[in-house]
Amino acid sequence: MLPRSVEKFIEVFSKLPSLGPRLATRLAFYLLGGDRTTLKGLSEALQDIQSLDRCPQCFFIKENSRDLCPVCSDKERNNGVVAIVEKETDLIALEKTGRFRGNYLILGDLPERGVLESGQKLRLQSLKERVKKDHDGKIKEIVVAVSPNSFGDFMVESIRQEFKDLTEKVTRLGRGIPTGGEIEFADEETLGQALERRV
Ligand SMILES: [Zn+2]
Repeated sequence: MLPRSVEKFIEVFSKLPSLGPRLATRLAFYLLGGDRTTLKGLSEALQDIQSLDRCPQCFFIKENSRDLCPVCSDKERNNGVVAIVEKETDLIALEKTGRFRGNYLILGDLPERGVLESGQKLRLQSLKERVKKDHDGKIKEIVVAVSPNSFGDFMVESIRQEFKDLTEKVTRLGRGIPTGGEIEFADEETLGQALERRV
């Protein structure tokens, strides 16, 4: 009943998080019913993000044309301090506080059962190699900035083990973020204080 192009739109969009076939269908008709500027804007935005890929150092997004993301290429930052976060949105939340001047490593969502996936192990490995190569084998601090829950505790312990010869200390965010709370939803002040009071 629907033109093939609309069916395809619905098929693609219904796979996105929090959209299902019903919302994707509504979105299709919304876009087709409105003026064409929205549709054109969406199309351009989708085109533009194709020119991004992952920073090989922290795994945040970067422009294809650049070697590193803006954080990693900022020479003013203290690259002897590295915060390990789960998600890009956590990095953004920490940056918004303006109280962290180190670098990052994005690990991806921590699996519930406590065993890191192979891609996550590779990311930790890349940090180890970077410490050996660029920092004579030791950095000042690793901040495990993951949401406070039982797996967060486990992560801190396993990072302590894995990096015991490679960092002077391993810290985690101080009190303030409710247990089980999400870093990306903490307000800036709370998160900023948790950063300053890291333990
Ligand atoms: Zn980076």
